[in-house]
Amino acid sequence: MKRVATIWLDGCSGCHMSFLDMDSRLIELSCMMDMVYSPYMDIKEYPQDVDIALVEGSISTEDDLKKIKHIRENTKTLIAFGDCAITGNISAMKNFVGSDEVLNRAYIELSCNKVIPNKVVPRLLDRVSPIHEIVSVDYFLAGCPTPSIAIYETIKSLLEDKIPDISSFTRFGK
Ligand code: SF4
Repeated sequence: MKRVATIWLDGCSGCHMSFLDMDSRLIELSCMMDMVYSPYMDIKEYPQDVDIALVEGSISTEDDLKKIKHIRENTKTLIAFGDCAITGNISAMKNFVGSDEVLNRAYIELSCNKVIPNKVVPRLLDRVSPIHEIVSVDYFLAGCPTPSIAIYETIKSLLEDKIPDISSFTRFGK
């Protein structure tokens, strides 16, 4: 069975919610794959030899940067999962104003504590990037969120060693 992972970087988790929206199709897929890493599971370390990884979200922190390089090194087929992973989307709106302005707004102007956290939380990068700017990507699964039918068709095709054709399930449809 192929080893499958889903990863949540800088996204809203909406694409992972859409994954759950596959509903009963999840049962069908679960008979064809081993889920080895995901926010749905309590596994801390990304494993080696992952066959298929769906990565939600963009690269916004030093932690994201380290993670995506490690994920790429240990994954055969990497999928940019949703528009944040593909273009930066909502997460990349920060690029218009920069990290300092965003942190000031969130932690000084709108917070009672008036302290910008500098421990435990990873440091923000100056610029938010889509995944393909950092590592190579094998497939781009568009949508905000990606429609669950497109997620299903993509995973199923890859599990069957076929090239996915999701053109009729996304806004780039025929
Ligand atoms: Fe959320 Fe949309 Fe980004 Fe998916 S693409 S993580 S739904 S904002």
